[in-house]
Parts: sequence; C-alpha cells; structure tokens
Amino acid sequence: MYGEFDLTIPETLQEAVKVLAAAGKRAVPLAGGTNVLVDVRSQRLAPHRIVDLGRIGGLRGISVEGGRVTLGPRTTISELLASDEIARTAPALGDAARVFAGQMVRNAATVAGNIACGSPAADLVPPLLALDAEVTLTGARGSRTVALCDYYTGYKADQRAPDELITAISWPVPVKGTFGSFYKLARRKGDAITVVGVAVGLGRKEGCCAGVRIALGSVAPCPIRARKAEGVLEGEAPTAERIAEAARIAAEECSPIDDVRATGEYRRKMVEVLVARLVNSAVQAGK
Ligand SMILES: Cc1cc2nc3c(=O)[nH]c(=O)nc-3n(C[C@H](O)[C@H](O)[C@H](O)COP(=O)(O)OP(=O)(O)OC[C@H]3O[C@@H](n4cnc5c(N)ncnc54)[C@H](O)[C@@H]3O)c2cc1C
Repeated sequence: MYGEFDLTIPETLQEAVKVLAAAGKRAVPLAGGTNVLVDVRSQRLAPHRIVDLGRIGGLRGISVEGGRVTLGPRTTISELLASDEIARTAPALGDAARVFAGQMVRNAATVAGNIACGSPAADLVPPLLALDAEVTLTGARGSRTVALCDYYTGYKADQRAPDELITAISWPVPVKGTFGSFYKLARRKGDAITVVGVAVGLGRKEGCCAGVRIALGSVAPCPIRARKAEGVLEGEAPTAERIAEAARIAAEECSPIDDVRATGEYRRKMVEVLVARLVNSAVQAGK
C-alpha cells in the first residue's frame, strides 16, 4: 500500500508556485501522471503533497511567433503528433511523438513531464536538444529561462528549484533547408523504453554542413549533445569519411551503461551506426 498524501488542485499558476514554495521538496507537481502515479504506486515516490496542474489555464498549446516556436508545458504527445506546426518546424520532435508509448499514454503524457522526469531515456529531450530548446521556469520569485542543454545536472537531477514549474519550452524556427530527424532504437516497436535515441539536425551552406546538431538519449546519465561530433561536420563538406568520423566520435562521447535492455558496448556501437545513418539521410534530403 502506498503512503497518504495531500492533494492540491490550484486554479492559477501563482497559487501553484505558492503551495510548492510552502511545501518544499515534499511536494510533487502532477501533469499527465504517467510517471508520477506509476512511481507512487510502486512506492518509488512518497510525496507529502501532490499539486495537480490540470485546472490551471494557459499551460497548453503550440504557437509560432517572432521566429520562435513555443510549447505550453501541458501540451500532450498526442497534440504534438496532430500539429502541422510541429511537422513543419520540428520534424524530429514529431518522429519522437510517433514512437512514444501507446495512444492512451500519449493522450495524457506532457512535454514538461517528459523533461522534468529526468529520465536518460526521455524521448522528447534529444530532439529538443537538437533544436536548441530553452526551458522557462516560473517560481515564487519570478521566471527564468535556461538552455535545455544546461538544464540537467546529472542522473535525474536538474536546475529546477522545488517551488518552480516549467511554464514554457521554446526554440528558434530552424533556418530553411535544415533537416531534422529522430530514431528510437528499442526492443519492441510499441511501448518500449529506448535503448538508444538519436536526434540530428543539419542544414547546408554553400555545400557545407551548417547548424549541425547531434543529440543522444539513453547513453549517458541524462540526454546529451555530442558536441565534438558536431564540430567534425560543422562548416565542412559532408564526405563519407567525415560522416563516419563524426559518428565514431559521437560514440566516444557517450558513457552508456549495461542494463537489462542492452550492454553499454552495443549501445555505443548503435550510436555510431545511427548517427551515420541520420546524418546521411539529412545530407541526402538537402541535395
Ligand atoms: C506505459 C508507459 C509508456 C511510456 N512510454 C514512454 C516513451 O515511449 N517515451 C518516453 O519518453 N516516456 C515514456 N513514458 C514515460 C512518461 O509517459 C513520460 O515521461 C511523460 O512525458 C511524462 O509526462 P506526464 O505529464 O505524464 O508527467 P507526470 O507523471 O505528471 O510528471 C513527471 C515528472 O515531471 C514533473 N512535472 C510535470 N509537469 C511539470 C511542470 N510543468 N513543471 C515541473 N515539473 C513538472 C512531475 O513532478 C514529475 O516529477 C511511458 C510511461 C508509461 C506509463
């Protein structure tokens, strides 16, 4: 049997952050509940207070304005999938939504919940990293924006203070001619935890690679950018040798563990294979 907890269902963001500030680390925000409720039931999580964000208005939706795409934190995976704006401005995020869980979970699970759960295997995070996404955090003392690439501080550890909520996720609309994709390697096609996730974004300038982004999931304590691998391609012609070199370096940049799904060695090899494959596809698409 799981422990008892108090439930608060605030009507406004101000009320929510006030309750969180008063409760400190013993309170847990609740969005879709697809992580929180599973963790409470299995007793991995024993909060004193759950703060349900479901009645607060204005936390959902996808907008494109002033050259930036902005997601409300409670935007669901199903809403990402149904969005023409996401298909147009963030195809890699659309790829991740397509392979995310099953329909019932996709209807409840939210973008902020996926970021905040801190899982190294969180599927939306590599595409968002490859888009240079930023996360807005709002707390009792106001709002601040942090780059998603700086958000995580370790395994299931992040910059969010206990009284803060993720209130927006945004990124610049990629320049025309940028191609992005995400591949989830898993043991089954549906409802499986990612063994290796790779997101790539790549544009072209005068025949050379520009705006190269390579992000990896499930191969380090948190999702990461493979910056050295990006540097091998940035500003250079995408020759077969250079792509192979970037893929090899991306594999060196990760620190995968052995677990029930795969060995670290297999994960590292798959990073090399998948980075090469996705970069090649982006190069072909840009021809
Ligand atoms: C059957 C099943 C299949 C799944 N498949 C996948 C999958 O394929 N890929 C994948 O990546 N994940 C998967 N998950 C995990 C989960 O669905 C996702 O991580 C989901 O995005 C979590 O969102 P949520 O809204 O349900 O979060 P919740 O469970 O409500 O919250 C998750 C965490 O985020 C915090 N949080 C929520 N909203 C905010 C906010 N606005 N500000 C600050 N903190 C917040 C909560 O306090 C909690 O720590 C699966 C889960 C299940 C049960």
